[in-house]
Amino acid sequence: MRAAFAIAGALVVGACATTAKVPERRARALPPPVAASAAPVEAASAAPPEDEPEEEEVAPAPSAAPTPVAACNPQKAFQYLIRSSYIPVKTKKQEHEKALKWRTTQYGYVKGFGEASWNSKLAKDEVVATTVFGLPVSVHKKVVPAIKCAEAEIKATCGSTPYTPHVLSGIRDKNTYRAGEVTNHLYGIALDIDPLLNSCCGCVKKWQASPLCKKKAKTIWERMSMPKCWVDAFEKYGFYWLGHDALMDTMHFEFLADPDQIMVTPKVIAAAAP
Ligand SMILES: [Zn+2]
Repeated sequence: MRAAFAIAGALVVGACATTAKVPERRARALPPPVAASAAPVEAASAAPPEDEPEEEEVAPAPSAAPTPVAACNPQKAFQYLIRSSYIPVKTKKQEHEKALKWRTTQYGYVKGFGEASWNSKLAKDEVVATTVFGLPVSVHKKVVPAIKCAEAEIKATCGSTPYTPHVLSGIRDKNTYRAGEVTNHLYGIALDIDPLLNSCCGCVKKWQASPLCKKKAKTIWERMSMPKCWVDAFEKYGFYWLGHDALMDTMHFEFLADPDQIMVTPKVIAAAAP
């Protein structure tokens, strides 16, 4: 299996170099797809069995080329979908509607927000239950791979700042914003990690009462338990962290990149290969 990972990594780096300008933002192969699809690669690179006919060694099959595997594709959140681009809604109606239309067309209609004609499906009907960091959570099925990519990145890179989450929260059926805003939790594309340990000092009073908001702190990182490495991992794969926002919502990630580009497909890899 090591050979399969190495081959997948080499292909992915090649793909990245042509699509991303930041060299360190490399794609990461997800364990499950690699394990499932890399078997032919491993078989191709393994030593032939002793009883294999001699002629097959002389003339190997033309399919000896490695089979490309799907891998996580680093993305950045679209700027126009980031909260600060469309608030206050009262004076940025067009900007807000543009973001609302993207969410509706991509993830489904939420009654009361936007127009039903933008998507015949309801966002709540596209939600699935999944397990992340060993914890259950329900989110929109389109963003599950992105969360898994962040999880794999964390497992691979955050060992020096260990953190064990206790509670996750995804889909919601009530809008928790006021003044015309619409939370991404309604679409199932937002994820909260440990609300009691990662504060939201700009939110409602209930959250402002957190001891993390009372203490003296020079940076936002001192108002949360989650390590920065986790934020970096989520941001690498298209999530926006609301800790950057005036809300200082450090528990909250929302997927604001392209759900159709979460994975580098074999087709894309093959096109990018030299
Ligand atoms: Zn949230």
